[in-house]
Amino acid sequence: MHIPDIIIAIDGYSSTGKSSFARLIADEFDFLYLDSGALYRGVTLYAMENGMISPDKEIDVPALETAMETLDLHFAGSGSHSVTYMGERCVEKDIRTLAVSGLVSPIAAVPQVRAYVDRRLRELGSRKRVVLDGRDIGTTVFPDAELKIFMVADLDVRAMRRASEMQSKGENVSFDEVMKNLEERDYIDSHRKASPLAKAEDAIVLDNSRMTLQDQMEWIRKIISERFNPSTSAKSC
Ligand code: C5P
Repeated sequence: MHIPDIIIAIDGYSSTGKSSFARLIADEFDFLYLDSGALYRGVTLYAMENGMISPDKEIDVPALETAMETLDLHFAGSGSHSVTYMGERCVEKDIRTLAVSGLVSPIAAVPQVRAYVDRRLRELGSRKRVVLDGRDIGTTVFPDAELKIFMVADLDVRAMRRASEMQSKGENVSFDEVMKNLEERDYIDSHRKASPLAKAEDAIVLDNSRMTLQDQMEWIRKIISERFNPSTSAKSC
């Protein structure tokens, strides 16, 4: 199925499976995938490694703001193989730890950090044919996106998925720790002043609590064929 050059914005709560879904969409429709959460995580990792966050989570905003002038966070690879780089260093694994997850939401609430990430996303997404996931893509970063999806799932389902994913990567985390982290991030993300997590008015809600990724792909194919009149690549002779 070939679809026109559009922007697909996927927002929603933490660990609703936005990035797995977005990666599959990118693969299937040959779109560029941009993981906005990875950029917030990258800024957080940088701030942690450079002593810009105190033990009581105070952030040295002026120092971080100066550092972001030259901080080179970008993606390499495509679709399901897209990974995050900080300069020449692949930080894909380092940005997914529970330590980074525990500090990323306060960092993402800093307006200067949001401005940095928004700028990077708009630069990278200007060519259209992109699928992005995050918390404010459809409301703030690309309010004119042609297709907006807002993902939700039951908290215990999300915690279970996230804990098993982290455990399978060798991280020693418990279900309770993950659940607590998700609750904290949901709260901070939806209550911050700058671009809080919210459903765009024109977004379609997808509750995937009881759906597989394949079910979700079926769902989006149907929406895309109804809305964008895609052509199939097979040509008649
Ligand atoms: O998507 P992911 O869980 O990796 O995002 C990490 C964090 O980055 C979120 O908990 C949220 O605090 C922040 N974020 C955001 N706005 C986005 C994407 C992520 O505030 N567009």
